[in-house]
Amino acid sequence: MNQPGFKPGRWEEIDDQKDQLIPSLKTLAGDGRAQATAVYDRGGPGVDRRKNPHKANAAAGLLTIWNNNGSLLFNNPAVRLGYPGFPHSEELIINWAVEKIDGLKQNIDGGIINLLIYSYTDVCPDCERDLPSVWLDKLRAASERKGGAVINLDVWDEKGGSFNHVIK
Ligand SMILES: [Zn+2]
Repeated sequence: MNQPGFKPGRWEEIDDQKDQLIPSLKTLAGDGRAQATAVYDRGGPGVDRRKNPHKANAAAGLLTIWNNNGSLLFNNPAVRLGYPGFPHSEELIINWAVEKIDGLKQNIDGGIINLLIYSYTDVCPDCERDLPSVWLDKLRAASERKGGAVINLDVWDEKGGSFNHVIK
């Protein structure tokens, strides 16, 4: 994934997120949904018919973790689909990030954690309420289990053809 100005610190909205990272995450989310849709439409024994990707939201997250020396410990994206009646895709990305933070071998005391999420459909009111409170607290708790770090959580969607910074 192309990341201009890649250095420890919070992503800059205009230069990094809006122009580079968010379009890349949008492509990843769209591809993930297209793949799931193709598998679903093909059918077969492994397909859960309760989870219809045609009706699912897709979110892509980019989790980047530096330690307090500025060393990059983790920098990977993930895509999750949120099906009607199941946890929303944004929550699934948070859970993925928590799992990755818990899995770190290193202490990250004084480090930086950036989680950038792009939601293919509009972020719903429940997620808009929970992301900066319940889910951010969950990330903070995971960080504290590893020594503690500054956490930057940014969430974007798209409204009227332009990218919209929902949570910053
Ligand atoms: Zn939601």
